Amino acid sequence: MNKRDALKKYFGHENFRPGQEKLIDGILSGRDVLGVMPTGGGKSVCYQLPALLLPGVTIVVSPLISLMKDQVAALTEAGIRAAFVNSSLSGGQVRTVYRRAWAGEFQLLYVAPERLAGEGIVKLAQGLEVSLVAVDEAHCVSQWGQDFRPSYLKIPEFLDKLPRRPAVAAFTATATSQVREDIVRLLGLERPLTLVTGYDRPNLYFEVCRPRSKSGALRDLLLPRMGKSGIIYCATRAGVEKVCEELRDWGLPATRYHAGLDEEERRRNQDDFRFDRAPIMVATNAFGMGIDKSNVSYVIHYNMPKSLEAYYQEAGRAGRDGERAECFLLYSGRDVETAKFLIENGSGNDELTEEERAEALRRDHRRLEAMVGYCHTGGCLRGYLLDYFGQEHSDHCGDCGNCLGDHELADVTTQAQMVLSCVRRVEDRLGYNVGAALIAQTLSGSANKRVLELGLDELSTYGLMRGQTTGQVREYIDFLKEKGYLEKEPEHGALRLTKTSGEILFRGRKLEMPIRKSPADEAARTVESGLFQALKDLRYRLSQKEGVPPFVIFSNATLTDMAARRPRSVAEFLRVSGVGEVKARKYASAFLLAIGDYEAERE
Ligand code: ADP
Ligand code: ZN
Repeated sequence: MNKRDALKKYFGHENFRPGQEKLIDGILSGRDVLGVMPTGGGKSVCYQLPALLLPGVTIVVSPLISLMKDQVAALTEAGIRAAFVNSSLSGGQVRTVYRRAWAGEFQLLYVAPERLAGEGIVKLAQGLEVSLVAVDEAHCVSQWGQDFRPSYLKIPEFLDKLPRRPAVAAFTATATSQVREDIVRLLGLERPLTLVTGYDRPNLYFEVCRPRSKSGALRDLLLPRMGKSGIIYCATRAGVEKVCEELRDWGLPATRYHAGLDEEERRRNQDDFRFDRAPIMVATNAFGMGIDKSNVSYVIHYNMPKSLEAYYQEAGRAGRDGERAECFLLYSGRDVETAKFLIENGSGNDELTEEERAEALRRDHRRLEAMVGYCHTGGCLRGYLLDYFGQEHSDHCGDCGNCLGDHELADVTTQAQMVLSCVRRVEDRLGYNVGAALIAQTLSGSANKRVLELGLDELSTYGLMRGQTTGQVREYIDFLKEKGYLEKEPEHGALRLTKTSGEILFRGRKLEMPIRKSPADEAARTVESGLFQALKDLRYRLSQKEGVPPFVIFSNATLTDMAARRPRSVAEFLRVSGVGEVKARKYASAFLLAIGDYEAERE
């Protein structure tokens, strides 16, 4: 069988995604490869397909227990012989898997990296023909990555024990050259064919919101998205508790995940989410690696993360099935303080020297700055992300909050005068300038300790902008800085007036500030078609019956295509994207009946 036939027959795809074919060709020709693709780019097919075409067995090293189980379930569904060995199995179960593997039953065997040191797997690998070792999440071998796993360093030892060195294929979504070099060196890849695909995720929509109330904004985002599955990331455990509680009060099917919950509850909640029993997950960044749920249609960041690396990875968990999905970030100035606190008080890596630790801290602050820049930019958001990851792009993607947003020009001359005169009054009184935070607090009439100590509450500008949050006042300050009417003193970062401030203060110059209307709600109103909903219901029933997550049966992309094509025969059913032979045999009748019912009802 050739690779294109195998792609259709087993995976149900008509064409390869960018990069897949080159990597597969490399592996089939016996070369080592390194594939760098964004999350959702389609890394799995790159080793699963060669595993079908090569003789013997492919060993897949994967760090994630839950992911292994899902992948093996999905492969089995597609008629591919696969199994996994990890700590979730009992001794007896492991022995059964090994016995069947010895009999040559499996085309793919997933193992956790810790296992590779064990006698069982080594003996097995020595006795069987191993054509390929695929290393998933290969950045775990590098200390520079986010998820360093010392057991990954043992992979070369394992390879050395084999009678013949198989081809080694490493995959990761982490693009930095440092991590890439580490992977090649530490895994001992030999002249690998390296392929880095683009970082763009065209099906993702990006938007930054600066809401007056985050809770209100969240409600506005969630209500039109009822019935869809999404993740809400919060910066802290307390945030997760609060938001999850609130969602449940609104009657939304939410569950939660953070490192403070016991293992049993974490597993239960994660399963509720995977099986769509609770399609909304509220979580800290502890939730994520290993979430292979393809039908996540939105990711909302309730707080700004610490870096764009983290943001893109977390937001990237939306839309892995290639369907349009949305990524919202709810920004407030306070998020910056929280992120700084988390950086300063983060659990440092004990293995680092004092000097390395200081360097890491500086790096974290630089990353934070880039993240804040994303929240403030008026330019294309996708462009900003791709710039950061070093990829060419057009000026306007035409499909992010900033490209699509309606900018309304609002006259803010009065507000600008208030800000500028407050800066002036404070300087008059104290004889020196203060930072933006204190100016904002004074204007919004805050009873903050420093405000009172310095006597700023006695100024005529105190409380001039009462009723606005300090965050909103900060926006005016930022805008005035951007326009050159305010500047930061180089030494202390205090705010001071500039040569042009007088034009607004005394000469009545008018100032207009673009204020963006959120376009998101428009986009959300694309109501799902009745047939799609019917197919989704059927998928849900089948998944409950078989005890597998819904997306293992068919992805949302497949259901969308099915709803559009409305197949009437098995042959037509096979033409639906994502339908392979085995799945057609298993599910064609159920879905064809559902489509028939739907059409009959409509007539
Ligand atoms: P990654 O491991 O890179 O995050 P996956 O291997 O999980 O990505 O693939 C993500 C999604 O893309 C899956 O739903 C998969 O079915 C789909 N996919 C992979 N290859 C193709 C292809 N050639 N055509 C269409 N969809 C594909
Ligand atoms: Zn854009």
